[in-house]
Amino acid sequence: MSNVENTPTPPADAEARRAVAPVICYPNDSLPGPDLPWMQEVRNQAEKIGETLIPAREARCFEVPAGHFFRITSVEGPQVGDLNLWNLRDLSERFYSGKTRALHGTHLTVGERMWSSFPFLRPMATITTDTLGWYGIDEFGGSVHDVIGTRCDPYTGNLLSGTQYHHCCHSNLTRALADHLNIPLTEAEPAVHDVLNVFMCTGFTRDTGQYFMKASPVRPGDHLEFFSEIDLLGGLSACPGGDCSSEHSSDTAACYPLLVEVFAPPKEALIGWQSPAPNGYDRSHGR
Ligand SMILES: [Zn+2]
Repeated sequence: MSNVENTPTPPADAEARRAVAPVICYPNDSLPGPDLPWMQEVRNQAEKIGETLIPAREARCFEVPAGHFFRITSVEGPQVGDLNLWNLRDLSERFYSGKTRALHGTHLTVGERMWSSFPFLRPMATITTDTLGWYGIDEFGGSVHDVIGTRCDPYTGNLLSGTQYHHCCHSNLTRALADHLNIPLTEAEPAVHDVLNVFMCTGFTRDTGQYFMKASPVRPGDHLEFFSEIDLLGGLSACPGGDCSSEHSSDTAACYPLLVEVFAPPKEALIGWQSPAPNGYDRSHGR
């Protein structure tokens, strides 16, 4: 919302129009939900098979087979992470932040899912543990793990202040994907997409509707854990914003690494389970 000088005169029934109660766009009682008790049972039998340390102001990629779990942990100090997910065998199927927001709301927690892009639109990962689940929504309207931000990027910095900064999450994820798949940066960059802002505390100001961030409540040991619904390639950037209490897109903020761990259940624990099928729309688009 911008403050324009010639604000139109409100109509006589302005208050009545404002008083109309909102309707939830996508009531999620019809959304196929995860079987969390079953996932917990599978998790109890899982063993750690690998880990990746994401250095501060850098990103790394990691692979998680379907039916496995991955955990993102804050280590050393408060740090926010920008998470991308792709189908391991098809980079065109990737996390769809906007639709996930429409389905679940602005911030994600246990039982909510990261949905993939069209035409797939299926769960890629389900959140099974969130040690910041106690935070809720604070008095400013802020909450953690948002799907409202995009990812910090060098283009916006250049637009606003003419900078050339190379360690924004967008560039970190681009380099990490290029290195992991051994492809050129020009091929990797278009596959980088809007993120799940892991541990980031954000909201919109009530008076101006602007996107805000504040110091993340995350502390070392806090973690977010996911059940992998399909074979995943993940990319995680330890944001140059650190805990995002002041600024990003520079080397000013204190930054820390993030740890990604992968856990494998025994094969028999997954008997009878299969990855969700791609969306059932026939794609004829009325023709
Ligand atoms: Zn970032």
